Amino acid sequence: MSATDTTLEQPAEAAPETPPFSMELSQDQKDIRDWVHGFAEGVVRPAAAEWDEREETPWPIIQEAAQIGLYSFESLGQFFADETGLMLPLVNEELFWGDAGIGMSIMGTTLAVAAIFGQGTPEQIGEWIPQCYGTADDVKVAAFCASEPNAGSDVSAVRTRAKFDEATGEWVLNGQKAWATNGGISDVHVIIATVDPELGSRGHAAFIVPPGTPGLTQGTKVKKHGLRASHTADVFLDDCRVPGACLLGGKERLDERLARVREGKKGKSQAAMATFEASRPTVGAQAIGIARAAYEYALEYAKDREQFGKAIIENQAIAFALADMKLEIDAARLLVWRASWMGRTGQPFRNAEGSMSKLKAGEVATWATERAIHILGGNGYTREFPVERWHRDAKIYTIFEGTSEIQRLVIARAISGVHVR
Ligand SMILES: Cc1cc2nc3c(=O)[nH]c(=O)nc-3n(C[C@H](O)[C@H](O)[C@H](O)COP(=O)(O)OP(=O)(O)OC[C@H]3O[C@@H](n4cnc5c(N)ncnc54)[C@H](O)[C@@H]3O)c2cc1C
Repeated sequence: MSATDTTLEQPAEAAPETPPFSMELSQDQKDIRDWVHGFAEGVVRPAAAEWDEREETPWPIIQEAAQIGLYSFESLGQFFADETGLMLPLVNEELFWGDAGIGMSIMGTTLAVAAIFGQGTPEQIGEWIPQCYGTADDVKVAAFCASEPNAGSDVSAVRTRAKFDEATGEWVLNGQKAWATNGGISDVHVIIATVDPELGSRGHAAFIVPPGTPGLTQGTKVKKHGLRASHTADVFLDDCRVPGACLLGGKERLDERLARVREGKKGKSQAAMATFEASRPTVGAQAIGIARAAYEYALEYAKDREQFGKAIIENQAIAFALADMKLEIDAARLLVWRASWMGRTGQPFRNAEGSMSKLKAGEVATWATERAIHILGGNGYTREFPVERWHRDAKIYTIFEGTSEIQRLVIARAISGVHVR
């Protein structure tokens, strides 16, 4: 089993009364979108260059987001409650339009929250999700740690080991996690570990490591090409003991699942994959936010900049590039909205629609931001203008949460039923 497996547990069939989504957003959706846009425009974008240069977590901005109610488990619950599923992509697009590094500092917690929400018991959800955020006066972040130095695309290669200590009723975690967003600076870490290495990713489980647990330490903080306001680091687990209650979903459910797998029956959802499937459309929306920022900037620049006695947009070469950018961004957004709606309304991703949305959005963002640099010419290549930062930020969207190749593999397997390699 690897990150490329498509035999995930599918959500239940759609309810008969599936809420439709409309191209005409509801008043509530427009209000929230405009509210987030205001924060992105007034607070996030003006601070973007500074935090990119500092390459540090922008705690004051996370706190400001918490104080206006944008960074909290209540707000995430409100966005998620939207029955069309569009609110989360709307919010993410606007925030990341402001800046992706700061956006990820605010939204990075969501991946851990998605894992707890998707796999935890009601008690675990109630206990741990609020702790991922802290309070408006004392904000916290959370991390989801699946990847390891030798387990990126191939999640089945995870070697971090979880062993149950019958004497104390604790789980003991040992291993190394790589590239964890918020790794080491989080209050709550969700760790993917193997309880039975022979079962590949079907032997994985997700564990909460509570704040201050001995044995969890931060390794090297990674210096990055883009998304530099977002903290990325290795995490070491060295005889890290967590209470039995920190196994997401509980031991009874895990034992049942492992027994089924050992009998050769199909395993239910794998700990890391389930989280990635649910979050891919939202990640796609973030990429669209970056692409749209670059497109809008390049459009205005092309109208202002004159060469050969006329605005450069009067040349078809420039105008057509902008037309293509708009076209591709809108097409990517439609895929994201479709997948978000399907995910929220319980429709199975029979053709890997979640992967499609993330693949398209990541590739469009990388391509459109490069086009924007080109339209700005020499200025586009300098740090005096934001498009080079947007291009650096966009590139990660073809890599994390499954690279473009992995998304294509998932789609190819889903449409063909063939175990394409
Ligand atoms: C900024 C940042 C933040 C991150 N945040 C997190 C996080 O919060 N939590 C977390 O768990 N991880 C995180 N990651 C890790 C990220 O998910 C991995 O980097 C990603 O999954 C790719 O794995 P890899 O880097 O090992 O690349 P590899 O898997 O080594 O891939 C290298 C290349 O080989 C290609 N390739 C691999 N297998 C195949 C195949 N079967 N067919 C075709 N091509 C293939 C890939 O597409 C890629 O081009 C983060 C990474 C970064 C850089």
